[in-house]
Amino acid sequence: MVTDVIIIGGGAAGLCSAVYLKQKNPELSVRILESSPRVCKKLALTGNGRCNISNKNINLSRYHGDNVEFCRFALEKYDLSFTENFFEKIGVPFVFEGDKAFPMGLQAASVVDCLRFAADNLGVITHLETKATNIQISNGKYKVICDNLSFLAENIIIATGLLSGGDRLGCDGSMLNVLKKAGFKTKECTPAIVQIKTETDIVKQLKGIKVNANATLSVSGKAVRTEFGEVLFCDYGLSGPPILQISREVSKTKEDTEIWLDIMSEYDFGLVYEMLKARRNNLSYCNLDEFFTGMLNKRLGQVVLKSVGLKLSDSVSELNDKKCKEIASVLKKFQFKAIGTTGFLNSQVTAGGLDTKSFNFKTMESRDAKGLYAVGEILDIDGDCGGFNLQWAWSSAFCASDNILKVKQ
Ligand SMILES: Cc1cc2nc3c(=O)[nH]c(=O)nc-3n(C[C@H](O)[C@H](O)[C@H](O)COP(=O)(O)OP(=O)(O)OC[C@H]3O[C@@H](n4cnc5c(N)ncnc54)[C@H](O)[C@@H]3O)c2cc1C
Repeated sequence: MVTDVIIIGGGAAGLCSAVYLKQKNPELSVRILESSPRVCKKLALTGNGRCNISNKNINLSRYHGDNVEFCRFALEKYDLSFTENFFEKIGVPFVFEGDKAFPMGLQAASVVDCLRFAADNLGVITHLETKATNIQISNGKYKVICDNLSFLAENIIIATGLLSGGDRLGCDGSMLNVLKKAGFKTKECTPAIVQIKTETDIVKQLKGIKVNANATLSVSGKAVRTEFGEVLFCDYGLSGPPILQISREVSKTKEDTEIWLDIMSEYDFGLVYEMLKARRNNLSYCNLDEFFTGMLNKRLGQVVLKSVGLKLSDSVSELNDKKCKEIASVLKKFQFKAIGTTGFLNSQVTAGGLDTKSFNFKTMESRDAKGLYAVGEILDIDGDCGGFNLQWAWSSAFCASDNILKVKQ
């Protein structure tokens, strides 16, 4: 029996494609093949369990990939309001926190449920614990081989995601290798939206401390991206929203990378210097171990002083102007050598994947294999933290599905 559309991967993009296809054409036969015992395991964990489902400010500057223009058409045509309308119909109204969109119930699991209920109600057939291991062409149709089953289809949508979240979420990246062997061009996969490992001598001493800072990623001494927010010191390095946001280049580049923290971002260098000198005059009765008490986290302050070679048992009155300048420099640019990331398992998205040049940006269809579509994370497109990756999953899914519907008309 030939199915009209087989969707490989029952994640965000896969479920969205299936529901949309059946809403628009109930006659279409649609099957999902999902390797895990449940669909959308990853979606259920998104946004710390609340699912940051989209963003009011979707634009290309928030997306990355070797050919980022590829995603413009789908993101503009199937935008936030298109997506809101789709989700409203299946029972998920959106609410907004700043620019970020969430399901009104603030539960990622409820988004999964609503997608699942809609798919079941519309007659989508879902095969769980069914991992696609190969794709062949048979009599002009696609034959999808699973462990002990095979399925024939006129169209296939590859929605298997990539490596982020790891095996526990069904994300082993194996479909990319299948497609690579079949001749598809790919781009190197690296983890993005992920914690950064640094040299540990300083961060270990600061483990558990959170500080609001401008975090800058520098590559070969040049600042490439700065984000403001709460940075968390960990025994392996740095975490927190601004760190995740600037992490992408750490694995991408072979050049030296550093994180610079400006922990006095509201004051310029001159002002910090003046503050320190005034503090020295006011607190001359203290030892240096209390110099920052009341201004900075105590442990952080002490580590900053030690980093410029000061002894905490010395008196504040012994601080000279030169040392005040050195301390101000560290507060404005606390430098940490990046040595990697905590890897795919902890990353929220994978950079790299299927080369988008081999796909039609208006349809998500392969330029060489007619009827084969790729959507979501498996394509070489990744977004920033903030709902951008899920919006790409939705937009690319609507885009591929609309083309299949048009062709089938
Ligand atoms: C912890 C975490 C939090 C996140 N939070 C957010 C957020 O709040 N907002 C946001 O925009 N993005 C977030 N993301 C990113 C977002 O979840 C992904 O970008 C999105 O889920 C990608 O959708 P996808 O359908 O392409 O892949 P996935 O959702 O990963 O789905 C792929 C599916 O394919 C299945 N599969 C894989 N290989 C096979 C195979 N060979 N055969 C059959 N099935 C297979 C997998 O089991 C999986 O179910 C988060 C990611 C993580 C890990």
